[in-house]
Order: sequence, then structure tokens, then C-alpha cells
Amino acid sequence: MDNQFLISLTEKYGAPLYVYNADVIEHQYNRMMNAFSSVKNVKLNYAVKSNTNINVLKFLKNLGSGGDCVSVQEIKLCLAAGFDVKDISYTPNGVSFKEISEAKELGVKITLDNLSSLDKFGKAFPNAPVSLRINPHIMAGGNAKISVGHVDSKFGISHTQIEEIKKIVTENGTPVNGVHMHTGSDIKDPSAFVEAMEVLLGIARQFDTIEFIDLGSGFKVPYKDGDHATNLEELGQVLGTSFNAFCKEYGKELKLIFEPGKFLVSESGKFLAKVNVIKQTPNINFVGVDSGLNHLMRPMMYDAYHRVHNISNPNGEKQTYNVVGYICETDTFASDRELGKVSEGDIICMDNAGAYCFSMASNYNSRFKPAEVLVIKGKDYLIRERETFEDILKGQIMIDSL
Ligand SMILES: *Cc1c(COP(=O)(O)O)cnc(C)c1O
Repeated sequence: MDNQFLISLTEKYGAPLYVYNADVIEHQYNRMMNAFSSVKNVKLNYAVKSNTNINVLKFLKNLGSGGDCVSVQEIKLCLAAGFDVKDISYTPNGVSFKEISEAKELGVKITLDNLSSLDKFGKAFPNAPVSLRINPHIMAGGNAKISVGHVDSKFGISHTQIEEIKKIVTENGTPVNGVHMHTGSDIKDPSAFVEAMEVLLGIARQFDTIEFIDLGSGFKVPYKDGDHATNLEELGQVLGTSFNAFCKEYGKELKLIFEPGKFLVSESGKFLAKVNVIKQTPNINFVGVDSGLNHLMRPMMYDAYHRVHNISNPNGEKQTYNVVGYICETDTFASDRELGKVSEGDIICMDNAGAYCFSMASNYNSRFKPAEVLVIKGKDYLIRERETFEDILKGQIMIDSL
């Protein structure tokens, strides 16, 4: 998607605007399937929370992807997008047993991550299979908020609690059909995956009803120039070899599942915002855009780095800027960036806006959420309209006597 095309989309649909390139999603999907081609039975269950637009879901479903959901609403989104119920998995953390029961009634695959829910599940649904989210006690991930597989993390059942797990499932007659892990996001080091998989296979050996091994996600994609991304092809070889050896030992062709979010959609997305004001202060040249942390929270939430470009003047004389939003608190998208000289009305483009950007957007400061566009083979489709004032009032109840 070149600069002129992106600018034309802001003229057609307004700014700020999210634009996703479906060709990139398809490329990433195929790249991942190819990396694990040594394994006979591989399935990608797209992590729905990274981008929940129903058309993104549908596009991935058409590629052959399943969906991994962390809430019952995400399950319903997948069903609305046309996923087969057997291709939907549910991997919640700390939810009510009522929600787990609702997911069970909908017929999706269930992964549980605590002993209490495991026991309740076994008693409520005799003989219903379930898989176990295991905490392998591995420290991996780009940031404390997204490292979820270490010993003090709230996620998963500690692999050291295997005897308690066995006692519960034996008592209730629950077949354990899979073991799962998800150790975090932005994992640079392939050895973290390999180490964690060994722990997981150790758990799988304890049961004779296993059908799949789910290694979750955490694949890192480049956000910064020179960023170290997960070497997927190398990882595919190493994990594929151990997995195939395990299937042989186990005496059964098991399924290998991954749950990529960021890897599939991050790089497909561009976030386009228009420059409202340029403000020169004693030390900093601010570019104020018509958006903020309400639309793209990752820089403020995770100190995330997103590449920023002035696509209206890409070849202009370079100057150093801080790109900031209009929210009434510190609201920085990017600091100390060299951009082609910026003028009011220019369009600023932020890269890697496909994952955890719109899906984390809010109405803070009573701002509208932006529109979204999906581009398939060069053709643009509006896939979400910009909000209006009705959306801001929706759900609020005026007390008549007030
Ligand atoms: C968030 C999440 C993922 C996706 O992680 P990415 O880093 O976006 O690939 C996968 N599985 C589970 C259980 C998750 O919670």
C-alpha cells in the first residue's frame, strides 16, 4: 500500500483511519504454515483478541485458520464470521464458571488454567474432554505485562502441580485431550519455546488421551528497524523435529497447534492520523495529531515503538519531532523521530497497527473510535464505520427525576 493510496483512503473515509492489508495477513499465514510443514497435522488458531474485526476473522477462516478466544463474546464473533465450531478454542483466564459452561454449551474446545475450574468442569460435564494450560515457569516475552509463563504469573497451572491435576481428572473421569502453553508475547529467543515445549511434553506423557499439543504464541515481529524477529523457519525445524519424535514415542499422530495474533496481523495494519497542530517549545517540536492513546494505546501502555512516517512529505527535509495525541494527559505516540518536514494537515502513518491497536481502543475523552478499512488485492472495503455521537450516549440511562 503506497503513500498516495493511503492518503487517498483518508480523503475517502476520513482520518484517523485504520487500514489493513489482507495480502500481508495471507503472506504471514502461509509463511507460518510453511515453517511447520515438517509436521503432518498443524493448525493455526488465530488469537482473535489481537484484531476482532469480523472481516479479518472471515478472511483468516477462509485461509484455513481456526480461532482462539479468551471470552465468550470472541467465540460468538467467530461463529458470526462463519468459523466451524470445532475450529474454535477457548483459552480463558480467571473467568467465572458460568462463562466456561456457556462456552461448553456452544460446543467449542476448552482449555482450563486452574485446578478449581478443572474440578468444577469435571463434575458438571462428566466425560467431556478438556485441555490443560500449563505454566512451564519460563521467563520470556518483550515486557513484564506480556510475559505470562513465568513462575509468578497468574496464567496456567504450574507444571509442578501435575499430581493434583491427575487426582482431579481421575476422580471425575475427565479425558485430557491436550496440553497448552502460552508464555508471552514478543519472544526473541527460540530456545524459550523449545524449553517450554519439553516441559509440556513431560505433562502430555502423563495422559493417554492426548490429541493435540498447543504451543500458544509469542512470535515476535519487527516493529523497529533492525528489530530481531523470531526466526520462524529455524524454530519450525527445531520444534517440528521434537514434535515428530514425540508423536512416534506416544504412538499417535497428534495435532500441533499455534495461536498467533501479532504474527498474523500486526504488520498488515497502518494507522493514519491527520496533523492538527505543530507546536515548537524550547526543547521539543511537537506534532499534534487528531488521535491519541484512546485509539492506539500500545506506546503509552507498553512503551511500544511504532515506526512513524509523514506520508504527505516523505522526502522533505528531515526534522526531529515528538508525535503526540489530543488526549488530556501525557499521550505520546513517538519521541525524537526524524520525519520529513511536517505541516498542519499532513497525514502521519504509524506502522504495525494491525494487532492490539483498534482492539484496545476506547472512547476516553468521549472521542469516537476510528473507521477501519480492509484492502484485498488492492481494493478497499470499509469494514467499520466511524462512530457518531449516538455511540457515545448509547447505553447511558438518564434519570428522569434528576
Ligand atoms: C494473547 C494470546 C495469544 C496471542 O499472542 P500474540 O503475541 O499476539 O501472538 C495466544 N494465545 C493466548 C492464550 C493468548 O492469550
